[in-house]
Amino acid sequence: MSICYIGLGSNLGDSIAYLDSAISALHSNQSIKKIIVSNFYRSKPHGPQDQPDYINAVARFETKLTPYALLSLLQKIEQDNDRKRDGTHWGARTLDLDLLLYGDAIIETESLIVPHPYLCERSFVLYPLQELEPDIVFPNGVLLKECLSKLPVDDLKLIER
Ligand code: AMP
Repeated sequence: MSICYIGLGSNLGDSIAYLDSAISALHSNQSIKKIIVSNFYRSKPHGPQDQPDYINAVARFETKLTPYALLSLLQKIEQDNDRKRDGTHWGARTLDLDLLLYGDAIIETESLIVPHPYLCERSFVLYPLQELEPDIVFPNGVLLKECLSKLPVDDLKLIER
C-alpha cells in the first residue's frame, strides 16, 4: 500500500457538490482505502482572473494502484464530473484532481510529475495538507512547515460546513 495525497479543485458549477462527488467516487472504489479529507477552502484563481473563485481541498488515502493507474482513475472521476478538456491550462473547470504525493516516489515523465510541481508553492494545497499531516517531509527532504513559513495565507478562506 502507498500513502497518497491528492488536491481537489473546482471553480465551475456547484463546486462544493463536485468535490463531494469526487470524494464519494473515491469511497466507492475498492482500490482506495482509509480516505481522509481536509476542510474545504475558497481561493482566488491563479492565471486569468476573469473566472470564479476555486473551492479546494486535499485528501489522503492508501492504495495498491500504480501511480499511472491512479492518475487514470483521477482523470476518469474528472470526466464523470463534467470536466471538459479544451486545452486551456489555467481555465475554469468543474473538477481538477492532482496527484500531489505518491509515497516517497519521485516521478518525472511526460504524463506524470510527482511530487506535483506546485506542491510547495500554493497555499490552497499546503494549508489543507497541513491539517492532515502537519509534520510531513516531502521526498526531497523539505518539510511542509518550511514551505508554509515562506507562503502567506493570502486569499484562502475556510468554508464552514
Ligand atoms: P490539468 O489540466 O491541470 O488537469 O493537467 C492535466 C495533465 O497534467 C494530464 O495530462 C496529466 O498527465 C498531467 N500531469 C502531470 N503530473 C500530474 C500530476 N501529478 N497530477 C495530475 N496530472 C498530472
